Order: sequence, then structure tokens, then C-alpha cells
Amino acid sequence: MQALTDLTLTESVEKLRAGEVSSLELTQAFLERIERLEPDLHAFITLTPGQALKQARQADARLAEGRKNAGQPIPPLTGLPIAVKDVLTVKGVRCTCGSRILENFEAPFNATVVERLLAAGVVILGKTNTDEFAMGSSTENSAYGPTHNPWDVSRVPGGSSGGSAAAVAARMAPVALGTDTGGSVRQPASFCGVTGLKPTYGRVSRYGLVAYGSSLDVVGAFGRNTVDVAALFRLFAGHDELDATTIDLPVPEIRLEDDGDLSNLRVGVPEEYFIEGIQREVERSVRQAIQELEALGAEVIPVSLPHTEYALPVYYLIAPAEASANLARYDGIRYGPRVPAEEIWDIFRETRGEKFGPEVKRRIMLGTYALSAGYYDAYYGQAQKVRTLIKRDFEQAFEMVDVIAAPVAPTTAFPIGQHADDPLSMYLEDVFTLPANLAGVPGLSFPVGFDQQGLPVGMQLMGPHYREEVLFQAAHAFQQSTDWHLKKPELGQE
Ligand code: GLN
Repeated sequence: MQALTDLTLTESVEKLRAGEVSSLELTQAFLERIERLEPDLHAFITLTPGQALKQARQADARLAEGRKNAGQPIPPLTGLPIAVKDVLTVKGVRCTCGSRILENFEAPFNATVVERLLAAGVVILGKTNTDEFAMGSSTENSAYGPTHNPWDVSRVPGGSSGGSAAAVAARMAPVALGTDTGGSVRQPASFCGVTGLKPTYGRVSRYGLVAYGSSLDVVGAFGRNTVDVAALFRLFAGHDELDATTIDLPVPEIRLEDDGDLSNLRVGVPEEYFIEGIQREVERSVRQAIQELEALGAEVIPVSLPHTEYALPVYYLIAPAEASANLARYDGIRYGPRVPAEEIWDIFRETRGEKFGPEVKRRIMLGTYALSAGYYDAYYGQAQKVRTLIKRDFEQAFEMVDVIAAPVAPTTAFPIGQHADDPLSMYLEDVFTLPANLAGVPGLSFPVGFDQQGLPVGMQLMGPHYREEVLFQAAHAFQQSTDWHLKKPELGQE
């Protein structure tokens, strides 16, 4: 018999509706599995079993009622357990952002995405591990210790949404929420062999998402296949009065045909993403996946995104600049713990000095410097101009193609500690994910193979603004004809 924790979102919802499984059984099965695997993986910062079981019982009552009087509408995800990255607020639950500075901060309200999913009926299992304030590519920058990759626990799961990606890969949750400022959904999805979406900037509300880089941040989702990610996305995306950057555009019904025909799809392959230094097996798997798209009928067209090489320096000016402003609010007065001192300036200094981790301090210093009088034009101003050129690269490419296919990261999951003393080498892991954030375009990462050590390789499809649907359709066709997304990590405890 299939274990309950092996059910996907779609399968769970079907079984819940049919009364073949109760939300309580399903939730308990995930909580038990989490308890068993947490010591090895550490995917969560906070678990909320009490609240989860309560929500599950309520869901079961609703489902029972719905079965009694047909016609009574039941929210679409009633009873489905999910996990939430710990930078998104859930009312009454602590929200640490992977930082000591918010160690005991209890969120007073729900993030809009959380609110919408709760209205859709979900059960929240807990808050997943993240690099401190989502700054990182490995989850090693969490003040609560690193998450381990379910495919090889000596390796990182990617980051910063590493806890969510690992939880989905290890079947500790069928789906999870993450955030992507420079790759934090796509890269961990790639490292953990799951499917992950970074929506278009402005498509999803950031209300209740603790800000990192406000012009780049977007909430995304992880699942075990495209259908699940699309189902979740549709429910949390869309205009929100509480976030003025969300666009007032309906989120279309996403139709995913099972015929696997991609004959109307033009796939662009950017030469700038197949550069020296990329792991051979990553390139091989991605090129094979592109051939598979071609075999499904797609037309493959070489394209150029000439300003790609500037994405890394531009991002590492803009993101820290925005972060330095956003993180100014953690001053020991309003939120979290306070290190006592006589003078107010000393409270600020001591609290921030003690409670922020080294990477966050590095970013605050970089950002403050880039924004300071005398350097503003040379660094921040210049970066904004080059950002426009990067955006134009995409606009021009999308005049010729519908989607762009590229590797997600230059390597597969690296060993814990490998980049620990060398921030620049860590930043280089982000070369292929940063451009989509700078341009604001959507990206979908999904598994396309394994390297020789049995670690998953991911590919990303990027599309024009607000065209998530075309990414889903292409990836779904791919998953209909391949089984990379069905592979499951073997965990010692099973
Ligand atoms: N690795 C990138 C950074 O550290 C991206 C992180 C993210 O997307 N949140 O900034």
C-alpha cells in the first residue's frame, strides 16, 4: 500500500474528498514522519502540531458535511497539510526568519498568501528553515543550524528556502511555500529534486513576507510535480490591496493537457547559460531535457541574453542595498530581544551586533556603502541602469520564443561547509537564477536528471511576465513523458 506521506497534493485532495482518508490521518502521518526525519534533516524551525491537528479536525468536519449535502461548496484544499517558509507570517506562530533577532517574535497577522491558503482549507504543519532573512544559497546561514539534503545528508539542500525544498523531497509535506529573491525557490528545488515556481514579480502579494530585497522578493511554491505547484499557485496568487506592487490582473485557470504535445512552443536556449565552470553532468542533463522538449514537438531556437554576466554584480548591489534599508527596523526596540544599554545608540549597536549573523552584517555593510553619499551614483545608480538592460534582454528574446530553458545552478548540491569561508564562491552559485529576479520574469525549476553521485539536476524554464501558465504547460508535458520527478530519496530511517 502507498504510504500516506507519498501522496501528492492532487492525490491527497482526491482521497480527502472521497472520504478514503481523513485530514487527521494524513496530518498525523506527516507529523510522525517529520518527527522521525527531523534529527537527520532539520527542515523545520518551528512545528505547529497542536494547531495542525485542530485544523485537521475542522477540515474533517467540513468534508463530512460536504459529503452529506452535495452542492455545499467545500474549499478546494480542505484538509491538505502544507509547510511554510519561516519568513512568511502565520498568526500566533513565531516567525524567526532564521535569525536570533526575531527569536521570540510572534506574528500578529497572517501573510496574504497564508490567509488565502487557510481560506482554501489547508493545515499548516510548521515553519521551515531558511538562511537568515533569506540571505544565502545553502540554508547554512540559518541561526538555527543547517538543513541537510535528503539525497545526501552531508550536503546542503540549497537555499534560502532549503527547509521547504528538503521537506517536500523527503515527504515531510506534500507542498510548501518558499520565497525567491535571487533563486531561493528554484535553486533548492533543483538541489532537492522537486518542482519549484518563482512567479512573476507583482503576481503574488508580499504582505506578511518579511522583506529582504523589496523590488525582487516574490513568494513561490514547491511540490512534487507541476500540477501540484500550479494548483497551489492559483490559490495564493493575484492582486492584493495590501500590496501596492501586485498587479490587478486575473490569475487564469491553468489548463494542463495530458497529451504532451508542445508543437506550438518555441524554446529559446541562451548561449550565456552554458559557460565554462558549469558541472558537465548538469549541462548534459539540461541539454537532454531540451531535446526531450523538442521530441514533444517544441521548436528549439538559440537566443542571446547578452547582459547575463552583469546580473551577479548588479544583484549583489541592489539586494544588499534594499536589505540594508529593510533591516534597519530591527533595532532592539520594536521587535525581538533587546541587549540592554544606557544610551539608545548603544541598544541599537549591541542588539544588532549580537543578534544578526555574519552574512546579514556583510550585506548590511555592502548595501549601506553602495547607498552612501558619494557612491550612490557609481554603484546603486549604475546597477539600476544595468538592471534595465538585463530586463530588455529578456523582452527581446521573448519576441522570438515563448520560454527560455537553462540550467538552474552551475552545480548539483555541494557539501555542507564547502563555501563557508568564501562568500564570493557562494554568490557564484546564483549566476543563473539572478537574472529572472532582476527582470521580474517567472521561472519554474524541475528535475531533469542525476549526476554520478545520485544528486538531482534541475532545469529552469523562464517566461514573459505573467505567463506562468506556459511554463506549467511545458513542464507538465515534460513530466508526462519522463519520470525524474517520481524519484524518491532513500532515507536511512525508513
Ligand atoms: N542566494 C541569493 C542571496 O543570497 C538569493 C537568496 C534568495 O532568493 N532569497 O541573496
